[in-house]
Amino acid sequence: MPIDIQQCKAIATLLCSATTEVLWQGAHELVAVPLDPHRLRCRVGSGEATYYRRLGRHQHLINYGCRMVASKTDPEVAALWLTGREILRRNYFAGELSFPGLLAHTCCHEFGHFLQSISGGLGRGSIHNQAFYRIVDRIHAAGLAQELRAYIEQHASLLGLPLAFGPQSTPRPRPDAFEPGELVSFEYRGSPVMGEVLRVNRKTVNVRPLRPVLAADYFRISPQFLARHQKG
Ligand SMILES: [Zn+2]
Repeated sequence: MPIDIQQCKAIATLLCSATTEVLWQGAHELVAVPLDPHRLRCRVGSGEATYYRRLGRHQHLINYGCRMVASKTDPEVAALWLTGREILRRNYFAGELSFPGLLAHTCCHEFGHFLQSISGGLGRGSIHNQAFYRIVDRIHAAGLAQELRAYIEQHASLLGLPLAFGPQSTPRPRPDAFEPGELVSFEYRGSPVMGEVLRVNRKTVNVRPLRPVLAADYFRISPQFLARHQKG
């Protein structure tokens, strides 16, 4: 049975409570600045966007998107997300990509941005920098990622929520559904980016943003993350 959107919402809600109950509780020793003056709110978004945002000096927000949960149930797509690549490249969870591990690491990643922000490691133009990965490594080394995964698995089983990579509810669009020159959009760090299809690969599509985003000339994107637009 493919996971439905209500189940995705319930899982995203679980990520919110896991963040405040496991990460917030366990993270006090991880950075040199005190967490206490800060208030972190976690919420569930209806789309795919999953991000951390600083709202004020002491006000912080983490948004977990329902459709992010849905998209991470697909093991092929999971490996394309930054969080999936981090698990593989940085050997988190012994380099093994699983759905609950990916969810737990998603919390670590966004919470890592929160710790990065309050400890002054949020460099201009460089978000996923060394300071950030030092923090995320520390979260994993402290055993918090394992604890998070156990929390998520335990609560999901109590609620009867599926926690495995599973079949997809809708067939994934194929890369060759797109053509070079087509106008498309995708979401990057919570904001829509318009771009032009440069090239169609076997599993992904190269898209050049119409306006520069970071230093990237183009992004390699899984077709399911692309929306098509009419030119002109
Ligand atoms: Zn990030």
